[in-house]
Amino acid sequence: MPETIPLPQESSQMYAGRLFAPSFSGLDNCPMANSPWQARIRRAQHASGRHSFAAEILKFYIQVADFQEGLHRRLSTVLPLPAGPLDSELNDSESSELATQFEPFLALAATHGPEPLAALSRELQGRGRTVQSDLINSTWVVSSPSDAQGFLTWTFLQPYAELKRSRASVPQSHSARALCPFCDRRPAVAVLRQMGDGAARSLVCCFCLAEWEFRRIICAGCGEENDRKLPVYNASDFDYIRLECCDTCKTHIKTIDLTRDGHADPIADDLASTPLDLWARDHGYARLQQNFLGL
Ligand SMILES: [Zn+2]
Ligand SMILES: [Zn+2]
Repeated sequence: MPETIPLPQESSQMYAGRLFAPSFSGLDNCPMANSPWQARIRRAQHASGRHSFAAEILKFYIQVADFQEGLHRRLSTVLPLPAGPLDSELNDSESSELATQFEPFLALAATHGPEPLAALSRELQGRGRTVQSDLINSTWVVSSPSDAQGFLTWTFLQPYAELKRSRASVPQSHSARALCPFCDRRPAVAVLRQMGDGAARSLVCCFCLAEWEFRRIICAGCGEENDRKLPVYNASDFDYIRLECCDTCKTHIKTIDLTRDGHADPIADDLASTPLDLWARDHGYARLQQNFLGL
């Protein structure tokens, strides 16, 4: 059984201090989710109404997810098949098309993003197309960005990573590996899904959002298998999220337990439960992989 933790009051207050209340009108008038992005948006709307400390980032995420859906739709028709492998550099037509779409994304982030993200977006807008193209091309091939502008660009590129993954041939099962079988990047989060009488664990890629099965009692960071070194925590506000830590490599990953809340979404609920990351950080565990916008 996971050990129940009280959410750290000081962390929640610190986080709440720079956020504002949601302005959504509720779910009753929302259309049913009919795409992965609509499902994430719907869940983010729901979570923002319940967790005021996460309302600002969720409100921005909703804007981003809406943009990402439109970008995915455009790229799926504009960029020809077959797409190249997910782990190679962008070709000229990909790079050119993405650069065209980066400007409206920066405009969105400049208008709706929390500071200092909005300021960073305005700065990037002013640096011109060549710098923006270089940023897109260099971010596409890194295993994980190292700074805020990298994560902002990474978020922009995510729909294309999803599109290329959907066009890629299904790789061999790599359930023994903690890296994405499509793009070789680390998982941002894990999920538990009902399987038979129990639950199976999967990891979710931080970039192309592929999901692949992975054993339950093993650290995705270092491979530690001794369960006494793999403490699990949760909090009453997020009783469907397992905070899985490793005392060997001092990392943590959140597992969204879909057997406890079938409406949860790995992306939206990861954002909504940021206080768990703050608690983990305060107790010496770093996030295995930063998620959306480097959170
Ligand atoms: Zn991936
Ligand atoms: Zn570990």
